[in-house]
Amino acid sequence: MSGARLGVSYFGVRNPKHVAEDLRSMVEAGCNAVLHTFSEEDHCFYLETMAEIVALSKGWGLEVYIDPWGVGGVFGGEAFTRFALEHDEARQVLANGKKAPAACPNSEAFQAFMKKWISASVDIGADVLLWDEPHFFLPEWYGLPKELWACRCPHCQELFRQEYGYPLPREPNPDVLDFQDHSLFRFIQMLTEAAKARGVKTALCLLPEWESLESLPLKWEKYATLPSLDIFGSDPYWLWAGRTFAEYERVVRVVKALADRFGKEPQIWVQACKVRTGDEEQVRRSVETAYALGVRNIMAWSFLGTAYMSWVRSDQPEKVWAELTRAFRAIREEEERCRTFGSAGAG
Ligand SMILES: [Zn+2]
Repeated sequence: MSGARLGVSYFGVRNPKHVAEDLRSMVEAGCNAVLHTFSEEDHCFYLETMAEIVALSKGWGLEVYIDPWGVGGVFGGEAFTRFALEHDEARQVLANGKKAPAACPNSEAFQAFMKKWISASVDIGADVLLWDEPHFFLPEWYGLPKELWACRCPHCQELFRQEYGYPLPREPNPDVLDFQDHSLFRFIQMLTEAAKARGVKTALCLLPEWESLESLPLKWEKYATLPSLDIFGSDPYWLWAGRTFAEYERVVRVVKALADRFGKEPQIWVQACKVRTGDEEQVRRSVETAYALGVRNIMAWSFLGTAYMSWVRSDQPEKVWAELTRAFRAIREEEERCRTFGSAGAG
């Protein structure tokens, strides 16, 4: 397939009749890809419906990304985890000894569950599995003090002792941070390998650590080297994070450089949710800049400026959608011009 990969995420509607209408709007907006969230709820109760939704999407010529939305509380997404409720022994443990509402990536039971999720995602027809924002429990996302870090579960305690030769400390020191970094890396490696074994493409979206942008290239490099990874990216939602456009650009450049260096396709997720009045143009600017910096896989979170999820809705979602559509269509027109005149023109 030639041309840029442009798309949006989609969630909250599971009635294929309504999904079909929305898919048409996406295609009209210039999309040739869609990400369907695939939560634990979808996995339990909408399996065949999801297969129908994926088939409809392909009928519109869209490449289908599937992501583990909030699965285990380990990935990004506004979905609850049933796995953590049902598997007390696999839950992350906070610094105060209480259980977090999330599974531990070091738990074998959770790893086995993820393999089932992969299998189901492939069965419903995914083209690409996106590992979105993998993280250890972040207390600040739940309004808890940062001191309540995780994870101190038995799996982590045992692994830490084996690898570092002393008990897991009560306060996170550099070894703990290193351990968590490598735990997540091993987890993603396992997932991408399992997905590749089922014949689908794999994508990774890493959370930008705004406080330490200078360390991103080194921290992210190992992921970009994974042979089982096809698409390497991030979601620098700079407006949401209260950051500058220059910082956004910086993250885009890191993604592009690492992807180029290790032969991956770079992907940037653009914020099309929680956009304040007056900032709508920044959505278009973000897309244009990612494209200008050489990224040809640009997706936005989410459809219609996230009009229908009040928690992350933009102030004026219709304006956000209009700006996103304008940016996507401009890329399509540019591609069309290149196809028409490219071979005979300046090239
Ligand atoms: Zn743990």
